[in-house]
Amino acid sequence: MKPEPEHRGFTTRAIHVGQEADPSTGATIVPLYLTSTYTQTGLSQHRGYEYGRADNPTRRALEAALAALENGRHAVTFGSGMAAIDAVVRMLKPDDHVVAGEDLYGGAYRLFEQVYREHGVLADYANLSAPEVLSTVVSPLSRLLWLETPTNPLLKVADIAALAEIAHRHQMWVAVDNTFATPYLQNPLDLGADVVVHSMTKYLGGHSDVLGGVVITNDDGIAQSLKFLQNTVGSILGAFEAWLILRGIKTLGIRMERHQENAVAIRGFLEQHPAVERVYYPGSTDPYQASVVARQMRGPGAMLSFELRSQSGQDPLKRVQSVFSRLRLFSLAESLGGVESLVGHPATMSHASLPPHLRRERGISDRLIRLSVGIEEADDLIGDLEEALR
Ligand SMILES: *Cc1c(COP(=O)(O)O)cnc(C)c1O
Repeated sequence: MKPEPEHRGFTTRAIHVGQEADPSTGATIVPLYLTSTYTQTGLSQHRGYEYGRADNPTRRALEAALAALENGRHAVTFGSGMAAIDAVVRMLKPDDHVVAGEDLYGGAYRLFEQVYREHGVLADYANLSAPEVLSTVVSPLSRLLWLETPTNPLLKVADIAALAEIAHRHQMWVAVDNTFATPYLQNPLDLGADVVVHSMTKYLGGHSDVLGGVVITNDDGIAQSLKFLQNTVGSILGAFEAWLILRGIKTLGIRMERHQENAVAIRGFLEQHPAVERVYYPGSTDPYQASVVARQMRGPGAMLSFELRSQSGQDPLKRVQSVFSRLRLFSLAESLGGVESLVGHPATMSHASLPPHLRRERGISDRLIRLSVGIEEADDLIGDLEEALR
């Protein structure tokens, strides 16, 4: 018997799951269904669709494909990564406690601190690159472990399987923001996570032209709550966005191979460059981190940070500015995961809201530069960095 598309290789799943020829026209590519409502066949009778907030065929096709890419049974999409994160946190009740990694995405930190804290959901942050730390911060009220791995911007990894085991002993469920790794390189559900979240704005869309978010799970109860919130809160993914992301994920596997190949070449270049003090890349800091990468990832990915060597009497911000001003191919921009290479300055961009002493404590200096390595020719990217670092 031939395997179902769900059980085939990654890119085959990305191209085929949920994407059979359109039943009414034979269209090979899932059509963009721009409709807010569906004509019913009779009272309480319809073809599976009633209203556009509740469901849409383009969106449904994308959700089927996304579930298959994370080895999950259910995927529920939202209008942005933040809306997806919000849907997960919204399932908590007042007095529930969250433990999150300390290198958390700034938007998630803001959601915990400036929205949910007022509603009685309290979060604490810990450096979870050593799993045993989790036991020291849980309380009887702890319900959710929120993990990001690799982290931003220092690309530290956390052992998902070890942390999930500890969290489950404490009756917590485990959510992993898998945006940096993508399902091509890491599948948290296989490692014991209860839900996986992606900002599809990044690698899944892959072309910096669309925003979206998704939550994927194998738990029927969680999936039901998420579907309920999707329809009830209404922060849904539009049909056009779903169509663009469906187009994007078909090439996710081959894009990630090239992104990563380029990142490895750039890492090698930066590590031997006299103007560079240190390079951060998943698994690069110590043997323990390398062993976690080897256990749970199929590759280190394409996000990379590096610190410029300090030069006496030189203002670090001026130095960073002058490097940036000489870059031609790397654009100075927020976000990541598109085909084009981007450069960012965590201290004044993604992590500007962290108080300076916390930034220093966490190793985010003013000389730290973050790269989202694109899929251009590696030699051209290295040439661009070479010019800029002169
Ligand atoms: C961008 C990002 C988000 C937020 O996603 P949006 O689509 O911008 O709302 C969440 N987590 C991580 C790791 C991200 O990089």
